[in-house]
Amino acid sequence: MTTATKAKTIEIDNFIGGKAVKSKDGKTFQTISPGTGEVLGTVSYGTADDINLAVDAAKEAFENGPWPKMSMQDRANILLKVAALVEKNADELARAETLDTGKPITESRTGDIARVASNFQFYPNFAQSLADESWTPNPQERHTAIREPLGVCGLITPWNLPLYLATWKIAPCLIMGNACVLKPAEWTPYTAFLFAKLAKEAGVPDGVLNIVNGFGAGGAGEALTKHPDVKSISFTGETGTGRAIMASAAGTLKKLSFELGGKGANIIFEDANLDEALPTSVRAAYRNQGQVCLAGSRLFVQESIYPKVVKAMVERVKNLKVGDPLDPKTEMGALISKEHMEKVQTYIELGRKDGKCLTGGDPIKELGGGFFLSPSVFEGLAYDSKFCQEEIFGPVLPIIPFKDEEEVIKMANSTPYGLSASLWSQDVNRCNRVARKLKSGMVWVNCWFARDLRTPFGGQKSSGLGREGGRYSLEFFSDWKAVSYKYSD
Ligand code: ADP
Repeated sequence: MTTATKAKTIEIDNFIGGKAVKSKDGKTFQTISPGTGEVLGTVSYGTADDINLAVDAAKEAFENGPWPKMSMQDRANILLKVAALVEKNADELARAETLDTGKPITESRTGDIARVASNFQFYPNFAQSLADESWTPNPQERHTAIREPLGVCGLITPWNLPLYLATWKIAPCLIMGNACVLKPAEWTPYTAFLFAKLAKEAGVPDGVLNIVNGFGAGGAGEALTKHPDVKSISFTGETGTGRAIMASAAGTLKKLSFELGGKGANIIFEDANLDEALPTSVRAAYRNQGQVCLAGSRLFVQESIYPKVVKAMVERVKNLKVGDPLDPKTEMGALISKEHMEKVQTYIELGRKDGKCLTGGDPIKELGGGFFLSPSVFEGLAYDSKFCQEEIFGPVLPIIPFKDEEEVIKMANSTPYGLSASLWSQDVNRCNRVARKLKSGMVWVNCWFARDLRTPFGGQKSSGLGREGGRYSLEFFSDWKAVSYKYSD
């Protein structure tokens, strides 16, 4: 039994107009702790009515409140206080994230929550360097382009990196002077609610940050995408959901930014430094139980080193410490839900039928009622099989041999996705050649998950629309206005 089972059930409300509020009709749903399978909290079940209230509060804050009228420096000072409060409360936030997601506490503390704080350090500082534009075709004329906030922005986030991805949107949205309504994933509402209270404490005015919990299709999520007063939707989640949101937002013609699914290729050439490639490839496939859109979820290995790499990968994967998500030594925790675990298991069955499972792939009953699966490695699966084409989002990894660059580029580019890819080689010319040929929004050369918040983050093909990060996010959360001046002598 983990500590989570002893904890008392918590209440997670919506957050509207600076206050924690129950849903209008008083309905609730439960959030389950994946590490135990037990109820963690009772959540206010938001619907279109609650979205209407939240959008009204955001609109009021935008039209009549101080936030958009403040200097950017004043907004930045408040958002930097948010960062400081996140750091001060990092242990509590990390514990809440782990209880709600099942991810290892060390990953929550040093990954997710550390990045939440850095989102609120980076954007307020970076935004100060934004410049307006101006053209002077003759001494009597000046044409300028100035940025304005959009107004009320809708943010819809997934369950795999709940607070990290929510704040990746909230920070740029707010520094540009907007107000927002966030709809967190129904599986993981906990940390956004804790965060809203910290944002208020830091001085974010009431109504600038609103949260409505609830579901997607037919629920609060869809209502947000259809609301006429919402100017934009920034969404991270599945590709199919992106399509549905695009369709439902079309009626009110919203600005859209989507980061969608992935099936990352991780390519190891025969001249790679295996001391670095192997441990990183294990992290790339199994971090957060493989529930990462940027995961290296297909491992391609050049034929001459294939047997050696397969053996070494299996050994490393067998040694991964799967266990209580709250134990700091745990390297792999629980999957998000029973339903999701069952979906991953159907792929494992498929992998066993069409190929060979070299290790893992079974539920770990000794860990109690949580949703634990032993990390698995497969071989003998064709690159164009269902297993190697679809996003599984679990601790499963197919290893596929390849002959040469041409063959691996064809296989790597064969899925509908194009979010991220990694390649390992000590030949710089090969790295450049292959990186340019991969149809992918992000390519990591001799690394994985290396991030600079200024770079464009997002996918090609069915992995996304637009980019987030740095100036790309600031562009998304603002609109241009051209103002032209004529002077007389
Ligand atoms: P994931 O499986 O990674 O959670 P989803 O795309 O199912 O990905 O969900 C991501 C987010 O999108 C969640 O907050 C979910 O409630 C929301 N969502 C799902 N369907 C819709 C929809 N039709 N309209 C708006 N939001 C949706």
